[in-house]
Amino acid sequence: MAAMAKYRNIVILTGAGVSAESGIDTFRDAGGLWEKHRVEDVATPEAFARDPNLVLRFYDMRREAIQTKVPNAAHLALGRLDAEWRGGLLIVTQNVDDLHERGGARRVLHMHGEHLNAWCLACDRRPRWTGPLIDRPPCPACGSRALRPDVVWFGEVPYRMDEIHAALREADLFVSIGTSGAVYPAAGFVRAARELGADTLELNLERSKGSAWFAETRLGPATELVPDWVDEVLTSMA
Ligand SMILES: [Zn+2]
Repeated sequence: MAAMAKYRNIVILTGAGVSAESGIDTFRDAGGLWEKHRVEDVATPEAFARDPNLVLRFYDMRREAIQTKVPNAAHLALGRLDAEWRGGLLIVTQNVDDLHERGGARRVLHMHGEHLNAWCLACDRRPRWTGPLIDRPPCPACGSRALRPDVVWFGEVPYRMDEIHAALREADLFVSIGTSGAVYPAAGFVRAARELGADTLELNLERSKGSAWFAETRLGPATELVPDWVDEVLTSMA
């Protein structure tokens, strides 16, 4: 990919592969099972209605776990890109941890929500939340004991899709990092970007189902590929 300097607006999609090297396991890496439940069966609105304690306990554990992890070289490189890149940038992440932010990135959109937010089903506010929800703590805003994890469950619509599509329309480079690209609606981003004339680049551990859609694919660990790519982009700008 030559002449990086021609780019003005970059949209980056990140997935589990970026956080994996920080020790955050994906649903699938975890074996797909948690206390004999398929994870897909825990992370749904139906599961929450049927057995809220089970679902709250699952998310309490994950919320606690991410707070013990630290950003890796890929997060830090994207933080540096955000700080130094003078063009347009949107980092759309499927990850619900806060490692992009702790890695210094600011232009981040969490399309699947955030572990460190709660969502009050009574007043619709989304307070910052680092502790457990299992004991039904009151909402800091309205006092209702109606907080759930602010995470998009299977069968729910991802957040801020309009903003994502608006950014894709302006993008001249779309980069996908650490995600199979096989799950919609994220899988549609590369197709949309291509059809609108953007260059497309995939950085991934292994070739994925979505690889065919990208003009260029680079294979390897995110902690190696991302810092190298960010260096290229920022050098071209200098
Ligand atoms: Zn409330």
